[in-house]
Order: sequence, then structure tokens, then C-alpha cells
Amino acid sequence: MPQRGQGQWALGHTEPLNAAERFKKDDSGLHVRDRIIGRYAIAGFDSIDPADLRGRFRWWGLYTQRRPGIGGGKTGALDDAEIEDSYFMMRVRIPGGQLTADQLRAIAGVAKEYGRDLADLTDRQNVQFHWLRIEDVPQVWARLEEVGLSSLQACGDVPRNILGCPVAGIDADEIIDATAVLRATEAVAAGNPEFANLPRKYKTSISGCAAQCTAHEINDISFVGVRGPAGTPGFDLWVGGGLSTNPMFAQRLGAFVKPGQVPQVWAAVTRLFRDYGYRRLRSRARLKFLVADWGTERFREVLEREYLGFWLADGPAPARPAAGSRDHVGVRRQRDGRCYVGVAPRAGRSCGSQLWQVAELADSYGSGRIAMTTEQKLVLLDVPEAAVQGLVDELAAIDLPASPSVFRRGTMACTGIEFCKLAIVETKQRASDLHDELARRLPDFDTPVTINLAGCPNSCTRFQIADIGLKGSLVDGEEGFQVHLGGSLAADPALGRKLRGHKVTADGLADYVERVLRAYQADRADGEQFAAWARRADPGLLT
Ligand code: SF4
Repeated sequence: MPQRGQGQWALGHTEPLNAAERFKKDDSGLHVRDRIIGRYAIAGFDSIDPADLRGRFRWWGLYTQRRPGIGGGKTGALDDAEIEDSYFMMRVRIPGGQLTADQLRAIAGVAKEYGRDLADLTDRQNVQFHWLRIEDVPQVWARLEEVGLSSLQACGDVPRNILGCPVAGIDADEIIDATAVLRATEAVAAGNPEFANLPRKYKTSISGCAAQCTAHEINDISFVGVRGPAGTPGFDLWVGGGLSTNPMFAQRLGAFVKPGQVPQVWAAVTRLFRDYGYRRLRSRARLKFLVADWGTERFREVLEREYLGFWLADGPAPARPAAGSRDHVGVRRQRDGRCYVGVAPRAGRSCGSQLWQVAELADSYGSGRIAMTTEQKLVLLDVPEAAVQGLVDELAAIDLPASPSVFRRGTMACTGIEFCKLAIVETKQRASDLHDELARRLPDFDTPVTINLAGCPNSCTRFQIADIGLKGSLVDGEEGFQVHLGGSLAADPALGRKLRGHKVTADGLADYVERVLRAYQADRADGEQFAAWARRADPGLLT
């Protein structure tokens, strides 16, 4: 009897070992677009093949959304057909988060016309529509593609949207402008049949941001701006990061990648993952498990020997950024003397009407360029100094403050039970209410603090690396959160501390967070950040 092993193709285990591997082998997810246009959009929702609906649709950024009224207690107990609605979420791929005003207007138009005016901003620089009907999907694609946008490979076991610094190329402090490199890598990644069947989702960040704003520590593969051996800027290669239910930080391979090598090295690591990744269990299929088992030395050797055909130069580690926000919110001076203006929507919730106005403002005050951050924020670029105040005022008038409270600035929320079939609790409205309430109760609180709400353990909004991470769960049958405290990245990377058995109800959330923040203010040492304090504080101060 041959050993099934971990389902690694490179070891000859090519027979599908689970349902996902089966549908991927039966037909590429890339092919489902033709069936959507030619069949499903005409014949309607009930005509959709289940393997397409619950599998291959993701390759085109489509998921069914949760049927309204199904409580979190039923999540996991119902089968897909019972929990799903006949409407879709569509995720738009926006490489590096960079948009033109025309592109943002197209997004806004789709949201208004087909998606009940909702448009959520994600922490992976995507926009998500909801309430789309299958009949409208071809028209939505046409509208997006007219302006060079797409939902291609926004979900599924493929290279996902590539993260980049929203102020790449204009930031006065950046180590290297990664714009061209990111675009060249996107050209290799998007729609390439060679990478259309990976063991699992595959997340990339490519950035030269000095603040390291793209969270390289939690991506599958990252190219991090660094000054190389001879002082020339390039990239430090990291692999194997990811959160979800088994969080791991990415590890450095110690290799220096020249800018021109990035697409080639990216493709080589991706092929390695495709061939050696574990396909037997979905829960062990992310690249991080392979990296953890092999270690960085073996990983780099296999990469160079089997996939690159040359040895990469050794390189130095990037300097750790200073503590504090790395979200590009506020008004900052660009390298060229103009300014950029970063604003904070409410926990990533936006709408077509608001985004349309942002596009108009970007045209009238700046160069028409807008960027999305990896923290659910928006940045309007290239604004002459004399126009800044006018723009800031107009943005504030549409509920997009450039000087938000520390709580609004630091809060993120995932989709939650409103639309997500895996959710246990509501998140978006709760996050918005929470940051408003904290701003009211603690108006003088002055230290940056991140508060991330996730509707379930999957951690789409990365609760393990927030100062205050809130993982949705039921508390005596009521909606509530398991609390993780003291997570952080960048200057001081660490996973948050889980207080054993400690959960708060949704109703008690504002009281709890206020109590912990006041304890921090009273007990912190000079200059001590919240995360560092929370990791050392007496448990009695944290409950
Ligand atoms: Fe859905 Fe859970 Fe992700 Fe939130 S964290 S969007 S509830 S899967």
C-alpha cells in the first residue's frame, strides 16, 4: 500500500485526497468565468453546478453570502445549501491598493447599481461588494474591466491580491519604490494557469515602505525593502507567515533579492509551494507548515537548487521600524513637496456614494490617485499643500476624518455575520459603535492602539497581532469575544496573549476595553506601548 504522505505533488502524490483537491483537478477555477457568462447568468442561481458555486467561483472572487437571520450558533451546524443566500460577495483585486479616480468611480458605480450601495475596504487592499445577483456578474465584470480592474483570483487557492505600500514612490522615507517590481510580479501571477492550483491561498507583499506597512510577517511570501550588501536597495525575502487558527510569523531566508529578480524569485517560491505544499489536509496546506517543517536552510536550498538554478546572495535584515502607527493616516509631506491625506472610514465599511465623492475630491484637489492601505483606510495622493485644508474639510464632511480618534484610526473589523457564512458574531457595526464610544469615554487617550474584531477564529482581520484582538465566539449563548491582548508587528512582533477562559459579551465590550485601557494608563512605564504592557501586566488588570 503506497503511503499517502502529505499529498505533495513533488513526491508523486497527485491523486486528490479531499474534495477541494478533487474539484481543482477536475477543472481549473479559471474556466468558470465562461460558464458564468454563457450559462449561469442566463439560467439563474439554481442552474449553478455546486462544485462551481462552492469551489471554482472563488477563482473569480465570488462567494455566496450568508442568508440573513441565521444566528452564529448555527454556523458549522448547517450545510452550505442551508446557510447560503442566492446573492454574492465579489472581491476586487487591486494590486498594491493603487487606484485612479476613474477606477474608484467604476467601483462606486457598481456598488450603487448592483450592490445596494455597499463597498467594504479590506485589510488586503481589496474592495468587496455584496448583494450581487448572478445575472449581473457579467455586467459588473465589464464595468470593472473597462477601467483595468478585475475580480480574477481575488479568492481561491491562488496568488491573492499583492500587497504594496499605498504611498510607494512618493513617501519621503521609503527604502525603495517597489511599484514597478510589484506590477511585474502581478503580471506573472494573475491569471497564470501555472499558479491556478496551489495547495491553498497564497498571500504576497512587496514593499519598500520604511514603516513596513504591508505586514510582511503574516504573508506567505514577502519582499521587504532593505539596503543590500553594497548599500544598494533591494529586498529581503521572507516566507511562511499566516494567522488563521494556527498563527505563525514569516521567516527570513537571509537572501538578498535584487529588484529585477523579484518576479523570478516569486515564481520560484510559488512553484515550490505548488509542488511541495501539503494537499492532504486543508488545515495544513498553507506554506507556513512546510516552512516550519523544513526550516529556512532546507527551504532556501531546495528553492535555489531545484527552482532557481542559481544561488541568491546573502543579505542583511531590514531595520525594524519605529513603534507607532504604520497606517499612513493623516496629512504627510511627500518626497516631491506635495502632500498625501490618509483618512479612516468606519472599520472598513464604505459605500458607493462615499467612494464616488472620494474620487471626485481626488480629481479636484490632487492628481486623481487614491490608494487603499492594509488597515482598511484610504489615502488621497499628490495634493498641493495649499489645497490640503480644503480637502481635509470636504473629506470630514463625508465622514472620512484625516484626524480620527486613536480608536477609530486603530479599529478594523472583518465582514462578520452580516454576510459571512463562517461568522459567529456581528462585527462591522459593533466596531464602529465601539470606537465612537471609546472616543467619548476616553477623549484624552493619546497612544496608538489597535483593536481588531474578527467574527470567527479565521482571523481575516488578524486579531492575534492587535493590541486588543477580539475573536468572535458565543458566551453563554450570547454574542461575545475571546480576548487576545498585546499582539503587534513591526517594531516588536509578538502574538497576543490569550487570557485563558476570558471572554466578554458584546454588550459588555465597551466597558471591558475602557477598563483595560485605563489600567494601562495607570500602570504603564514611561513610553511603554500598550502591547508591551499587556504582555507583562498582572492578569488581574486585564480581565
Ligand atoms: Fe468571516 Fe471569520 Fe473571516 Fe470574519 S474572520 S470574515 S467571520 S471567516
